[in-house]
Amino acid sequence: MKPDVSETKIPIILSIDVEPDPFLVNRSAPEPWKGYEATHPYLASLRSRFEEATGSPVHYNWCFRMDPQVAESYGSPLYAVDRYPEFIKDMERQKDGFGAHPHAYRWIKDRQMWLEDLANQEWVNECVDMSLQAYKKAFGTACENFRFGNFWMNTETVNLLEASGVRYELTVEPGLASDAGGTLEKGYTTGRRPDYCRVSRVPYEPGQDDFLKPAAPGSRSIKIIPITTGWLQLGRKLRARLQRLRENGFRYRWQHERLSMWRQWNPPNTFEQMLDRAIAAQEKPYLSFAIRSSIGVGKSFKNVDHCLQTLLNHPQRQRFVFSTPEEAMALLNPASRH
Ligand SMILES: [Zn+2]
Repeated sequence: MKPDVSETKIPIILSIDVEPDPFLVNRSAPEPWKGYEATHPYLASLRSRFEEATGSPVHYNWCFRMDPQVAESYGSPLYAVDRYPEFIKDMERQKDGFGAHPHAYRWIKDRQMWLEDLANQEWVNECVDMSLQAYKKAFGTACENFRFGNFWMNTETVNLLEASGVRYELTVEPGLASDAGGTLEKGYTTGRRPDYCRVSRVPYEPGQDDFLKPAAPGSRSIKIIPITTGWLQLGRKLRARLQRLRENGFRYRWQHERLSMWRQWNPPNTFEQMLDRAIAAQEKPYLSFAIRSSIGVGKSFKNVDHCLQTLLNHPQRQRFVFSTPEEAMALLNPASRH
């Protein structure tokens, strides 16, 4: 056992996807962003408590929807930034992280519906380009932090992001199996989400030909920072244990379950237990979580609040540092700081 491990800081990236509350926005009467209106003050009120508990400055990571669905429904991809200048000022004052968070919804006029057109690379590129350009217009700098909507990503898009100057890609959720088709809440989808079961659980530079496989360190200017995973105590559920092993492999069997904050966690898998296992499973522990701004008014609010209170009261809280992605990577790899 290394004696200094318990002394090291554990960076926490808390990403908030700033977006409309519903996925399928009503184009003729677009819904106000009530979730964001509630989530910003809620997290702002937690900031000083987190600072006190951790003994470090607290930086959140806000990722904004600035894509065609927002542009067409709300009149501009910059809607959130123009509509909520006080929130933006607060984030800037606090030195929070900023990023882009596009979804690939395309309006199908004939059918009067939104289609998440993930199989259409040209459209995906358009969504990415619009978001990155809008980001630059809003904040005056190139966008460095990025999360795609609905857990989706592919190699072409990662390469485009790198060419556009993005440095930290925060979408990948290890342990999440591939999925096709849509849901009632999210609408119709083309394409398929990649299988994230055997992807790295530590930040890595993505392969040029396959973003799920690491490239040689130092060969890319973009890093994938996977969402945090731990393991469920499955007891005698033999079938579930076998499935975990089959899907994630021996190597990743202790990091098969994402620590989603919107969920209700129950013993023997409370959020605190999951957190402890996630930290113990990592050689250089970090935590990366993502929540939608809609939690402020949604039914998952109490679950997210419980998870955040768990971080606030955690016995290891003095190791926690709420960080921007760049700060988190610098904390994990002090030597590579530049
Ligand atoms: Zn989203």
